Amino acid sequence: MKILSMLAVALSLSASGAAAADNRVVLVTLDGLRWQEVFRGADPVVAEDPTFVEDRKAVKAAYLDPADRKAALTPFLHEVVAKQGVLIGDRDHGSCARVTNDQWFSYPGYNEILTGRPDPAIKSNDPTPNANVTVLEWLNRQPAFKGKVMAFTSWNVFPAIINSARSGVPVDDGMTTPKPRNAFEAALGRMQAQTPRIWPTVRFDVFTHNYALEALKRDKPKVVYISYGETDDFAHEGHYGLTLDAARRTDGFLRELWTTLQADKAYAGKTTLIVTTDHGRGAGVKQGDWKGHGKGLWPNSDETWIAVIGPGVKAGVSKTSECAGADQVAATALTALGVDWRAFDAKAGAPLDIFKAPAN
Ligand SMILES: [Zn+2]
Repeated sequence: MKILSMLAVALSLSASGAAAADNRVVLVTLDGLRWQEVFRGADPVVAEDPTFVEDRKAVKAAYLDPADRKAALTPFLHEVVAKQGVLIGDRDHGSCARVTNDQWFSYPGYNEILTGRPDPAIKSNDPTPNANVTVLEWLNRQPAFKGKVMAFTSWNVFPAIINSARSGVPVDDGMTTPKPRNAFEAALGRMQAQTPRIWPTVRFDVFTHNYALEALKRDKPKVVYISYGETDDFAHEGHYGLTLDAARRTDGFLRELWTTLQADKAYAGKTTLIVTTDHGRGAGVKQGDWKGHGKGLWPNSDETWIAVIGPGVKAGVSKTSECAGADQVAATALTALGVDWRAFDAKAGAPLDIFKAPAN
């Protein structure tokens, strides 16, 4: 015990000092998962509405009957991240997070998260190569990170958002099967190709997750971006039960990621996990308001949440002095890496005030 805790002190000292260049970040987004579900758990009115839930008995048992509904839906976020790290956006308790762009849908949201500021010129989800440089591209041009930045996404617009042709950041979006390097990847590729594709532009998250996990184990990238998509697509289709299942499954993915990182000496004690969403969803009282998002038609769909856990992050922070913005995520990631965010973009949103040491 004593030796282990001394080792932990030595590791954390080196992480804040000379070894800062070896800090790592895993940035994850869950498309369009509302703060209402994250902090309140399943909505009992929607979950008992036969329009939106087929197996109401199962949904009730899984998500409504437990005394702590939020922990029943996203246990890792509440039991681990909120205690050891930061979970921001609970508007019922004076916390707040939002996107600062004026569109409230995916491409503008991901652009804001990855570049540190909204771009009013982005007004559609068309796969137009991004004119803006993401933090992933910028890092991939720094000698310390070159070739060590990777992205795994469920949505096939990310090669455009990250501009992989220009940035050189590899983006695995599931549209092709990567060349397998071991038996597991061969099986994964076969199953991905043999699985029904129910959305033309979005693969199931299980494949995104497992390809990312395998890359973490084998390639040891320093910066990884993972974008899960099911929480948005099932919601658009009005399947509330499947949306809840997707949220709980993805929370399990986060736990598996974090556990894997902590068991790997390339990552343990020097990796920060940042989790957020590209937009919220409607929050009105009309039936089905939770299904959509976008400014104008879906009020409140700019409302989001942000979670961060890592060696330099204060434990138990649940709010920031001002409403946290998606434009602060890029600078937060850079600060976690020990990199001066102003060198990336001095006009980007500042890092979230969640670090033990003053932000650099
Ligand atoms: Zn959507």
